[in-house]
Amino acid sequence: MLNLVLFGPPGAGKGTQSQKLIDKYQLVHLSTGDILRAEIAAGTELGLEAKKLMDQGVLVPDEVVIGMISNKLDANSNAKGFIFDGFPRTVAQAEALDQLLTSKNTAISGMIALEVENEELKKRLLLRGKDSGRADDQNPEVIQKRIDEYNNKTAPVANYYQGQDKFTGVYGIGVIDEIFSNICIVVDAY
Ligand code: AMP
Repeated sequence: MLNLVLFGPPGAGKGTQSQKLIDKYQLVHLSTGDILRAEIAAGTELGLEAKKLMDQGVLVPDEVVIGMISNKLDANSNAKGFIFDGFPRTVAQAEALDQLLTSKNTAISGMIALEVENEELKKRLLLRGKDSGRADDQNPEVIQKRIDEYNNKTAPVANYYQGQDKFTGVYGIGVIDEIFSNICIVVDAY
């Protein structure tokens, strides 16, 4: 199985590059942000609780997202592989993901981290906020909070995969197709 973690701060281009990876490698896309937004749209209790945190730009509890991922892995037992987008975002989530995959006799193939400077991220998120309708992309304070959460809680996840020799950084500014080619060189070497 090909199981990729696509990593990077909010606005790094994870969603865009995920879509291209899914098309090329026929992977199942698991984006915890998308799953949470679907829960909000469906008006579930989980969605209502998550929305309060997402609107502030803070992470939702580990148990919530780990449970969602576990359900999705079970629901896609015939998949050729998965692309994890926006997950894991804490070391506890990374450890839980390793356990879930081990129990299914598979593992993470590698983490690809999209590297983009802070100022570019803020510009991209505000631009996306204009047409995505995402409340958390429209407020500079919420954007800053998301970047802070990333630096404090999520950045250590890169060290976790570095420790397993599964980490590769790819520069995330430039032409989308060129960034994609650089990602594919990494993936094809797994
Ligand atoms: P995203 O679409 O990945 O930018 O996620 C939007 C928001 O959903 C984040 O700011 C968090 O509040 C929440 N979220 C998404 N994925 C996770 C995760 N793996 N762990 C905790 N919170 C998450």
